[in-house]
Amino acid sequence: KDDESNAYPPELNADYEVTKETLGVGSFAIVRKAIHRETKTPYALKIILKRVIAGKEHMLDSELDILTKVNHPHVVSMHAMYESADAVYIVTDLASGGELFNQLLDQGCYTERDAANLVRQMLEGLVYLHDCDIVHRDIKPENLLFATKEADAKLMITDFGLSKILKNHDDILTTACGTPGYVAPEVLLQKGHGRPVDLWSVGVITFVLLCGYTPFYGEDQAALFENIMSGKYEFDEEYWGDISDSAKNMIDNLLAFDPEKRITAKDALQHPWITNEEEQVPGKT
Ligand code: ADP
Ligand code: MG
Repeated sequence: KDDESNAYPPELNADYEVTKETLGVGSFAIVRKAIHRETKTPYALKIILKRVIAGKEHMLDSELDILTKVNHPHVVSMHAMYESADAVYIVTDLASGGELFNQLLDQGCYTERDAANLVRQMLEGLVYLHDCDIVHRDIKPENLLFATKEADAKLMITDFGLSKILKNHDDILTTACGTPGYVAPEVLLQKGHGRPVDLWSVGVITFVLLCGYTPFYGEDQAALFENIMSGKYEFDEEYWGDISDSAKNMIDNLLAFDPEKRITAKDALQHPWITNEEEQVPGKT
């Protein structure tokens, strides 16, 4: 749509050539490939219509200021921000390997070693974000992107921090497009949204990576939420019989119902399932 490119802020057009290539669509944003004119480097341009931040415009500058300082190998960096009358444009690293979500759909499930390698990368990104006082609040396979298309591409966290500006409780509960299966019980119970909510989501992802299905489910959203708020999940023998106790223990630590008792990102990185020290336990058969 040509009228759309005309609507890009002139400063954005001066610095970047925004292509028609759509990299993805999320609940709030459409993401296009953009080429930095001077260096010819490709970036991802996240376009957020201002109506989804209605009422929170005052937070925009301060939040984005924080987010542009974030710099970590497992976190998608934001480089620049532009604004027009009806949209905000954020230039970020291009992660051309696509969503973990799609790889998961293709692959079904992962070996323990491969899953642990992915979870470790998520945790490294989260330790960094949490140290920066940023709670992601929307960790899910759609928000985890591979940097390249290589088989051993690094995994990067995207879409962080913006939840503060974009969403409130009501939105989380009613967002039709997002899968709410990764939301921590304390969020649904409206009792908290601190760092532990991200570890819960990592717990759900770890579960899914290992068996190919989610720990909490429901015929409809109400049933799903009931299920999450009950905090009960099972390691069905049929699918989990061959999976190590260490993996199950890791999941139990991440899916601890009480956020105070839930493992932190830092401690989770030291878990034997991640450090792979299991075989060194003496006497273990
Ligand atoms: P939303 O806040 O609307 O969920 P996201 O930041 O998650 O927006 O982006 C939506 C989708 O666009 C992602 O799920 C992904 O497929 C794609 N995308 C987002 N950021 C990038 C990026 N840096 N590189 C490549 N694709 C991206
Ligand atoms: Mg997203």
